[in-house]
Amino acid sequence: MEEIMKTIVCPECGEIITVAADEAELSSRLVCENCYSILEITSEDPIEVTVIDVDPDELDEDDFDEDEDEDE
Ligand SMILES: [Zn+2]
Repeated sequence: MEEIMKTIVCPECGEIITVAADEAELSSRLVCENCYSILEITSEDPIEVTVIDVDPDELDEDDFDEDEDEDE
């Protein structure tokens, strides 16, 4: 089965980030590998992201949530 990829341009540094379409869901977060900005997806089609500030504590909780989703 072919995986659909989406391209996101980092608003902070212009880095092009490629994510799987099933990971590019509304409100999901990703980290720019170039400037380490945390980006939250605000629109799926066309895909749009916004840079957000997150406490390290909050980020840890998000990681746990994502792991649980993948297991189910
Ligand atoms: Zn960036």
